[in-house]
Order: sequence, then C-alpha cells, then structure tokens
Amino acid sequence: MRLRQGLVAAAVVAGLAYLALRTPDPTPAQPSPVHRRDFLAMGTLVSISAYRGDAVSPEQAEQALGDAERSLLDFEHRWSAWGEGELGRINRKLAAGDTVGIPPDMQDLFGLAMEQTRKSRGLFDARIGNLVWLWGFDDESRYRSEPPPAAEVQAALAPLRGAREFEPGKPYGPAPGVAWDFGAIAKGYAVEQAVAQLKRAGLPDVIVNAGGNLRAVGRHGDRPWRVGIRHPRAKSPGEVLAALNTDGDEAVLTSGDYERYFEHGGRRYHHILDPRSGEPARGFQSVTVVTRDAALADAASTALFVAGPEHWRDIAARLGTDRLLLVDAEGRVAVTRALAPRLEFAPGIQYQVVE
Ligand code: AMP
Ligand code: MG
Repeated sequence: MRLRQGLVAAAVVAGLAYLALRTPDPTPAQPSPVHRRDFLAMGTLVSISAYRGDAVSPEQAEQALGDAERSLLDFEHRWSAWGEGELGRINRKLAAGDTVGIPPDMQDLFGLAMEQTRKSRGLFDARIGNLVWLWGFDDESRYRSEPPPAAEVQAALAPLRGAREFEPGKPYGPAPGVAWDFGAIAKGYAVEQAVAQLKRAGLPDVIVNAGGNLRAVGRHGDRPWRVGIRHPRAKSPGEVLAALNTDGDEAVLTSGDYERYFEHGGRRYHHILDPRSGEPARGFQSVTVVTRDAALADAASTALFVAGPEHWRDIAARLGTDRLLLVDAEGRVAVTRALAPRLEFAPGIQYQVVE
C-alpha cells in the first residue's frame, strides 16, 4: 500500500513537473516535440519519453506511446509469477507436479534467464519463485513484519540446489519446489522490447524507464538523454547520486535494497535474495550496471548485488560487464574506471575509482 501511494505521488510529481515544462506553450501551433507517459506497471512507476522528429505526427507519436504502454501492461500480466497470466499458470502446474510446455514466445526469456544463471554461478536464479513468495516480496500486499522461520527458508531453498535446467524447445518439469520469478530480469527485457516497438513506430529517440531501470536510444533533440541514478538512501524521490549523459544507445539498470523491504529489530530485510543462504543479500545498498542490453544488465545488477563487495569482480568478468557504480552497506561509493569519466556526481558525494 505504502509503495503504491508513493508511486502514485511520484507519478503526480512527474506529471506536474511535465505540465510545468509544457505550460505556457509559447507557440500552440507547434506542439512540444517531447511526448511523455507515466503509469504503474511491474510494481513500479514506468515512464516513456520520446523526442518526435519530422517523420511522425504528434498524433502518431501519442498513438505509439499508448501502444507501448498497452504492451508493457500485457507483458506484466503474462509474466507475473502468481497472477492469472501465462507464467502464473506455468507455476501452478509445476506446483501440482506437472511437466509444462513453455509457449514459443516465452522461450527467449526463459533461455536468457537460464544462461545468466549459469554465467553468474547461480547468484541470479529465476527459479527462486518459492523463496520470494515465502519472504512475501512478490506483492506489496504480502510484505511481512518479520523474517520467515529459518526452517521454512531452508525448505524453500533446498529444491533450488540441482534444480532442473530449462532447455530451449523442451517442456519443463517435473521440478518439485521450483517456481519461476522473472522479477530480476523482466523489467530490463520489457524496456528493451518497448524501445524496439517505438523504433518500429517511427520514434528512434526514446527513453523507457521502469523505476530506474532504463533503456535510452537516440537523443533529446540536439542534446543527449540525461539520466539520474538514484541515491540508495534518497530523502526525496528526486535525490540522485550521479547523472549520466547517454551515448545514444545505452541501458542503465539498478538493483537496490530500497525497492521492496521491511524492517524488523532494527534490520532491513529486502527483496534481493542470496540463493546460497535464502536470506536477503548483505553487502551492497545498490549496484548500477551500464551497458547496451537492458535484459542482460538487469540480470547482472542482481547477480552483482548478491555477489557483494568480495566477489563482484569475478562475477562481472564472467558476465562481461565493466561499467559499474556500487554503493556498499556502509554507503561508500565506488565506480569502475570504465564508467567514471561518464558520470557527473551530485555535490558532496565522495567516491573511489576502482578496477
Ligand atoms: P532486481 O531489482 O532486478 O535486482 O530484482 C529483484 C527481484 O528479483 C525480486 O523482487 C525477486 O522477485 C527476484 N529475485 C530476488 N532475488 C533474486 C535472485 N538472487 N535471482 C533472481 N531473481 C531474484
Ligand atoms: Mg535485476
């Protein structure tokens, strides 16, 4: 509930800021070249912005943004782990002990997730659904007020060890105790698809942002798209750690312990779970990955978050990603040498450049 109210408030603020930018319109005959839409999807605030060139009319641009919004809402329905859509149906069948055919249009994301699981040595693992459910992080209405009993955590974790792998083109199962949850890769995959759809509709200059997980292509008129990376302990919705001018084709994805969490006994229990312990991963407040493919960056940000300050280098090398911004549990900020020249840190932010 708190999350939803916060998101609605953020949407209203974003909407008002947008209106403030648009009014007064100096030349009503020439509508603004920037089109924007904000809505709730995939448990977060999604915003689509497009800079319209001469190739499409304002009406066509609005239509394209509306179509992209509908596609994202369909995607959410289809991929929600416990809803009425296709993935919910797959998980219910697996829970009943069945073997399930994975629809052709879902094979790609299943395959991608499985590959990232292997590469990250299981630190990212979309077969983690039952553990996420146990912790209550699948839906804000189910957040707990204290951690689940250790025995229940171990019981939800055990089936993950040696769990059946997804093989492209083959039915999946039986897999007792396994449920799929694409929460750590789906936002990246979805923004990637939305950008492709907008490009096909004649909008090559767009940015699609799902709660700080974004894909940007092209430019904002004569300047690059500029994106803010949220401070993990932000006191206001707009407080950023750093800003980045995108290079015309870029994905910026963040995993943070502030997205979904509850507090108990002075401790924060958040939604990024360590598949080795079954507990929320300790060691980082946030991990940001900058690369070209949003789905891969999404899986990577989660895997690196779980890897923690000791092991992130090894996992980053395995995942082939080197442009990273890391905030550890004490709030210390590190940026890799490959990303450092691209970032403009907010005033007062101390940081270390690392290899
Ligand atoms: P992200 O914000 O991209 O790091 O994704 C976190 C979401 O992915 C959580 O809300 C869970 O639904 C799911 N999740 C949590 N831990 C893991 C993990 N270790 N591997 C894969 N998915 C996870
Ligand atoms: Mg992720």
